[in-house]
Amino acid sequence: MASTRTAIEWTEKTWNPTTGCTKVSAGCKYCYAERITKRFPNHFPNGFRFTLHPERLNEPRRWKKPSLIFVNSMSDLFHEEMPLDFLKQVFQVMRETPWHIYQVLTKRHERLAELAPELEPWPENVWIGVSVEDARYKHRIDYLRRVPAAVRFISFEPLIGPIGEVDLTGIHWIIVGGESGPKRRPIRKEWVIELRDQALDQGVAFFFKQWGGYSPKAGGRLLEGREWNQMPQTLANHFASLSKGIDKTQGLALLGI
Ligand code: SF4
Repeated sequence: MASTRTAIEWTEKTWNPTTGCTKVSAGCKYCYAERITKRFPNHFPNGFRFTLHPERLNEPRRWKKPSLIFVNSMSDLFHEEMPLDFLKQVFQVMRETPWHIYQVLTKRHERLAELAPELEPWPENVWIGVSVEDARYKHRIDYLRRVPAAVRFISFEPLIGPIGEVDLTGIHWIIVGGESGPKRRPIRKEWVIELRDQALDQGVAFFFKQWGGYSPKAGGRLLEGREWNQMPQTLANHFASLSKGIDKTQGLALLGI
């Protein structure tokens, strides 16, 4: 195991081919991207206005280490001002860098479903998710189901209200987390347990990120005495395919899962 650990080293990165956004729902209230933009105005001359960064398009091609890349931590890839042509270029980069896995998360479920056919064939290494911060936004999941991605996931973060019953058909992974920051809206344990139990019952991987608090790590991440770090099986398959001789179980172990 020790030799394989050095043979493939994973990193986690973020890639922001666009920055800036517009608030669309309750989960946006204390938007992390907006807070960062205000804190570092020199890095964001356009402020929080939606901005294309063509000069960043090729960054992942230069990252030779296989990475789990979160796309657009500072924006929303399916923002209404995103030109289809630029979106296609982003997808082309992802398609041509198959050693990485890309996680794309959006609150623009309608535009996602509308443009999904334009982006076919969807690259195997792109995971697509929608945010569902409380029960009012469950309809986003129906739009997500229409997208022909290898992995479809739901981010229940920041979870600011109960979700209730949820149909996870066609969904591979859910992430749950509480809000952080001085004005955070508190998460409740029963909301998390309700989601975890439905995920386990429906055979969907469950990841509990954190309770939240003044800082993201303040409340820890134990739920009923343990961490929940399940990931989509695809991740292990991807890892195994990059390194002959590593099976899926070892792949997950190497990722610390
Ligand atoms: S969609 Fe995301 S990036 Fe855009 S305002 Fe809302 S939380 Fe911020």
